[in-house]
Amino acid sequence: MTADVQVRAGVLEKAASGVRLEAQELEALYTLPLPDVAAVAHGLRLERTPAEVVTFLIDRNINYTNICNVGCNFCAFYRTRRQNDSYVLDYEQISAKIRDLEAVGGTRILLQGGVNPALGLDYYTGLLRHVREHHPTIRIDAFSPEEVLFMEKSFGLSLDGLLDTLIDAGLHGLPGAGGEILEDEVRAKAAPARIRSADWFRIIDAAQRKGLYTIATMVIGFGETVAQRVRHLTRLREQQDRALREYGGNGFSGFALWTLQTEHTRLHGKAPGASAHEYLQQLAVARIALDNFPNLQASWPGQGFKVAQAALYYGANDLGSTMLEENVVSAAGGHGRHKATVRELVRIAVDAGFTPAIRNSRFQIIEWPDVDAVLGRAENNPEAERAVGA
Ligand code: SF4
Repeated sequence: MTADVQVRAGVLEKAASGVRLEAQELEALYTLPLPDVAAVAHGLRLERTPAEVVTFLIDRNINYTNICNVGCNFCAFYRTRRQNDSYVLDYEQISAKIRDLEAVGGTRILLQGGVNPALGLDYYTGLLRHVREHHPTIRIDAFSPEEVLFMEKSFGLSLDGLLDTLIDAGLHGLPGAGGEILEDEVRAKAAPARIRSADWFRIIDAAQRKGLYTIATMVIGFGETVAQRVRHLTRLREQQDRALREYGGNGFSGFALWTLQTEHTRLHGKAPGASAHEYLQQLAVARIALDNFPNLQASWPGQGFKVAQAALYYGANDLGSTMLEENVVSAAGGHGRHKATVRELVRIAVDAGFTPAIRNSRFQIIEWPDVDAVLGRAENNPEAERAVGA
């Protein structure tokens, strides 16, 4: 073995033993054969999460407005106020969507929208109060750091004061959307007006300090370097260390990775995107790097069901959620599947050799689905009906 090969093999040994890898060692993982890296990542996943279980959530995305003045180059979802198909949902329209979710046993809404300067603080707080009052069993994870930054700048409140106001109105968590690559050089090219990484971390840190649910995200395919990807992961890991140490263990609940979809966006032809191989490699590296994150999601909306199933052997232990409705990734392109049934997610887990479990947004298991009933097609089988409906 050459010295270089020995060093790289040593990195895998070190990772497999559970010792934290530093940035240069993480960069070396990208030069190693993917099956070797995947084997280590899967071994760590089996140690850090219940080995036989794959979880998912029944939830719904609700995009309350598509009007946005940020204008990210990778976004095909947003509209200007003057475009005919721009919208702001009223509270009853949102309630109707939540009733669909309740009908299939859903427990969480992911409420996000564009940065719409026409909306006042009372729209957001009124919306949270409306959902809390009319749908008391539904958890509300709402407003990405980008939307929170807009509110902070617009409504004359400190970040702490704003979050307290939103929590008082019913907020349970902040989606970690907008993470993409948390390196400003990458962000400036992909979306010049997008929230910068320091603000993203500042808002997430405050949310974690206040006990809110948060999730870490990553999108690859902008043309970012391996060093930038690794820096993204190590910054998330540092934030997680701080949150677990200082905020009573309230760090990120999980990590979600996507590949950039550019088909209908201004980045089409200008950003390289990422292949399934790159996605799986990045996921495996993330499992090794994020030694303080128990839960890593497989992205079926970005990758399709088959790659998501393979991802369960590259470090992922969770299939995300059914979603019922997704507008942002689907507008940009992708694999054509932007919602899943309970049956489909159960099928992915079972066929890969795992036991499926339904979780809440905090990754706590709340139900073990009856696999035979969900996968069966017996007439008048309520579990199968639910699976179809979800
Ligand atoms: S990604 Fe979000 S912030 Fe960017 S343009 Fe689209 S809706 Fe606006």
